[in-house]
Amino acid sequence: MADRTLLYDLSFPQIQALLVRWGEPRFRAEQLWHWLYASLAGDWEQMTNLPSGLRQRLAAETELSPLTPVTSQESANGQTRKVLFRLRDGETIESVLMRYTDRRTACISTQVGCGMACLFCATGQGGLVRNLSAGEIVGQVIHLARQVRQTESGQRSGAEQAHPVGNVVLMGMGEPLANYEATWQAIETLTDDRGYNLGARRFTLSTVGLVPGIRRLAEEALPINLAVSLHAADDQLRDRLVPINRRYPLAKLMDAIRDYAGKTKRRVSIEYALIDGVNDAPEQAYQLVRLLEGLLCHVNLIPLNPTPGSPWQPSPREQVDAFRAVLEAAGMPTTVRLRRGIDIEAGCGQLRRRELSAASDS
Ligand code: SAH
Repeated sequence: MADRTLLYDLSFPQIQALLVRWGEPRFRAEQLWHWLYASLAGDWEQMTNLPSGLRQRLAAETELSPLTPVTSQESANGQTRKVLFRLRDGETIESVLMRYTDRRTACISTQVGCGMACLFCATGQGGLVRNLSAGEIVGQVIHLARQVRQTESGQRSGAEQAHPVGNVVLMGMGEPLANYEATWQAIETLTDDRGYNLGARRFTLSTVGLVPGIRRLAEEALPINLAVSLHAADDQLRDRLVPINRRYPLAKLMDAIRDYAGKTKRRVSIEYALIDGVNDAPEQAYQLVRLLEGLLCHVNLIPLNPTPGSPWQPSPREQVDAFRAVLEAAGMPTTVRLRRGIDIEAGCGQLRRRELSAASDS
């Protein structure tokens, strides 16, 4: 029910205040927080050290589940799983779980849809519906972590048992810096050492380049990683691919990124989707080198993933290699992002609010 308080929406002090208002001793907040974020409890009955009266009141007056999985799809190689969730108001979002040998990464959404309208991105093509709440953001990680714990028990190291999801990338649907408050609260909740206790360095927030948000991030105490979706090194092309560039053109964006790296001393990831014949010529690689010169950064090249509304194709292998060679020759750390989950449309820029009839129930 959408009108009941969602527990995952509350910060620790807010949970404490709620329970104190109900006449509970202060330590109850720690117990409840532990159930939510360390035990990953999915129902009230599990919370055995809470008095049954309190459990009943919580069940009656608050909501434990921010989202319900509707469908989930597994890539053919078993490494990637995409889940479509229904939120309490009926809207839907997608999240992706990526399995690597020694860790699990959750790629989560921060908005229903996205208002940034990047031409090559499936999420952008659908427009923005609304922001997610902190609890809806946190809930995606908790759901995926619980699922890993249940389905992959016995195969994990100690670190993986404590953190069934060991990395979180805010690279799903939406623009996290356009939903700053909720996104930041979600990160604070998941890093809280009384609960899920994931290190801030395990988080990567990807932005289309909202300058005020980047400047605000630079002031935060938690040292999360920043990734910026650049895709073009000149304003004319970037205006076209990433329309928000008209508001925050490259000169302003690069100033903010340089200030961020200077202040935090952390390496910024620069994401660049390689589009055949659009932004992948060697001259464009040289342009990118000049733009990033002297910046503490790492370039992530992503051969474009196909999306229905866009005419563009990924750069062929030789163009990717040639582009990369220019960056490497200039001493720029560069990787080509592993393409994952393309067969289930779980790749970068492929997430949408869509239910597939072919998908199996989770
Ligand atoms: N709005 C944020 C978070 C989304 S992250 C951002 O723009 O960074 C998703 C990443 O996938 C971004 O780097 C985005 O530019 C990239 N992307 C979008 N569509 C893509 C596509 N079709 N192929 C490859 N990457 C794409």
